[in-house]
Amino acid sequence: MTFTLLIVDDETDNLRVLSNILKDDYNVLIAKNGHQALQIADKQQPSLILLDVIMPQMSGFQVIKELKGNPSTQDIPVIFITGLESSDDETQGLNLGAVDYVSKPFHHGIVKARVKNQIDSVRQKQLLEQLANIDVLTELPNRRKWKLDSENLPSIFNNYDQISVGIIDIDHFKKYNDHYGHAMGDKVLSSVAQSLNQFLINLGGRLYRFGGEEFIFLLPSIQASNTLDKIGQLTDHIEKSEHPHANSPVSKVVTVSVGLCTQELTTETPIKRMLEQADELLYQAKKNGRNQLLQVDTLTDRRKAKSVI
Ligand SMILES: [Mg+2]
Repeated sequence: MTFTLLIVDDETDNLRVLSNILKDDYNVLIAKNGHQALQIADKQQPSLILLDVIMPQMSGFQVIKELKGNPSTQDIPVIFITGLESSDDETQGLNLGAVDYVSKPFHHGIVKARVKNQIDSVRQKQLLEQLANIDVLTELPNRRKWKLDSENLPSIFNNYDQISVGIIDIDHFKKYNDHYGHAMGDKVLSSVAQSLNQFLINLGGRLYRFGGEEFIFLLPSIQASNTLDKIGQLTDHIEKSEHPHANSPVSKVVTVSVGLCTQELTTETPIKRMLEQADELLYQAKKNGRNQLLQVDTLTDRRKAKSVI
């Protein structure tokens, strides 16, 4: 992966020299003043900003204050570019949240090394972030990732007007573990997770492991599409995977029960309430004999529970 840097300097010569030093290793964006820098940083989300201290109108110190005050740019590391030999200025910059300095005139080796150090820590941070969001057994996104995504639905699914939240539970999983042992239990859990994931990805959805043998999914749709019809085939899909389950009162193979709630997708979508509704339906599906999907469509306040498959 190639990382993107934003270089901010009011002098064209400095922009040119720094770009030449760094352009072989990174995507380089440039800005000639503070206002431009703030706009580009917000929109393009560079991995690192090299920021000149002395600029007319808006100084580098003012720019970093703005960057740190904006949630969408506050975590982008900033290296100050300075010709100043004053340790007071360096102190001020570091106190404002800069991670390092490079000084003019530029020394190629030093600029490259300082930028690389910061990009290495950006890379490590991203890796840790990814690991923190993955369930080790199934390799699915975990509950933490669910929480992050569920707070950000309109931007993740920005081309859709409806969102469904589903909860899936493997039927009689305790009986499976009792009969086959926990090692086999883990194996089948992992395998069912992969089948569910593939099925949902094909429909444009995302699956998460919620805990134990329980999964949650998000499924975006548009009103004219038949996505919601296709999700009805989820339980058949798992049954056809034919993982033997000798002790299941429902079937000879592993099956799942699903509760699903659909609503309009807006910034106000009450995702927690939808999850509770899906959970109630899952409970109902289990009471009804399992191996089934129950669905409620509450797209408008006027329409209540519409269809039960
Ligand atoms: Mg300057």
